Amino acid sequence: MAVDLHTHSSYSDGTARPEEVVAAAVGRGLTALALTDHDTLDGIAEAGRAAEDAGLPFVPGVELSVGWNARAVHLLAYWIEPGPGPLQDRLAEIQQGREARNVQIVEALDALGFDITMEEIRAIAGDGVVGRPHFAVALMQRNAVASISEAFDRYLAKGRPAYRPRKRLSAAEAVALARRSGGVTSVAHPHTVADDASAFEAAFSGFAALGITGVECYYVEYAPETRRKLVSIARNAGLVPTGGSDYHGGNKPGIEVGIGRGDLVVPDEVLGELAAARPV
Ligand code: AMP
Ligand code: ZN
Ligand code: FE
Ligand code: FE
Repeated sequence: MAVDLHTHSSYSDGTARPEEVVAAAVGRGLTALALTDHDTLDGIAEAGRAAEDAGLPFVPGVELSVGWNARAVHLLAYWIEPGPGPLQDRLAEIQQGREARNVQIVEALDALGFDITMEEIRAIAGDGVVGRPHFAVALMQRNAVASISEAFDRYLAKGRPAYRPRKRLSAAEAVALARRSGGVTSVAHPHTVADDASAFEAAFSGFAALGITGVECYYVEYAPETRRKLVSIARNAGLVPTGGSDYHGGNKPGIEVGIGRGDLVVPDEVLGELAAARPV
């Protein structure tokens, strides 16, 4: 019995509608699904309705980019319902900060001689949260760069001329806000914070000390051996080993809901353990 606790829809940077993500989870025979779009809960209502119609247990979630030890870490928050609330209200503020930052990027690109409007960028993003990848597409469409990664390397990455920072929550703030909103948190794809066993041990005990509940050990891109090692380190740190496909539809080809690249199995017990850690 398997679950998928990390998926994206067209409300952030995936290509599938929330109901299509739900249908894929049902098709794979999953016993539960979480939708975790970046910084937005806009897809939750549609996914929740589709899941209810299909009889699929559904966890409303969100993937936050937070600051931790001077790095950006992705933190999954679960059981965050759309509407007003401590984390929800901060998400709205973060969204406003992102929009202001996007206008600054338009201005920076204008100063570099690119005539790109916010309307054009919004059209590229569709329903999704507007971000730097959409500016990268606009630069590609002008043949200014040959690829998304070249657009980042030349213009959009930190330290490059069209980079503009945006505010993010600290990990500690995000954990506290998620808790006050009735949710729990798990660190996504932890290879971004450590690269060997002792670094993982140190990082995971730091996460536990912050009140984070889980860490994503069953991640799509990890080899089976890495998944096993991370589960063991997570357990020793008192963290719940969570997992997911990080499904993005056509934006990450070859990755399917539930099974990832074909070998992913996230045991459904971990969802029960996460649920047991929800604040009462
Ligand atoms: P934003 O949230 O608007 O600052 O954009 C962040 C997103 O840009 C990330 O989620 C990545 O998908 C993408 N991104 C960041 N750095 C790079 C890079 N060097 N190459 C390609 N994509 C990147
Ligand atoms: Zn994404
Ligand atoms: Fe992520
Ligand atoms: Fe993700």
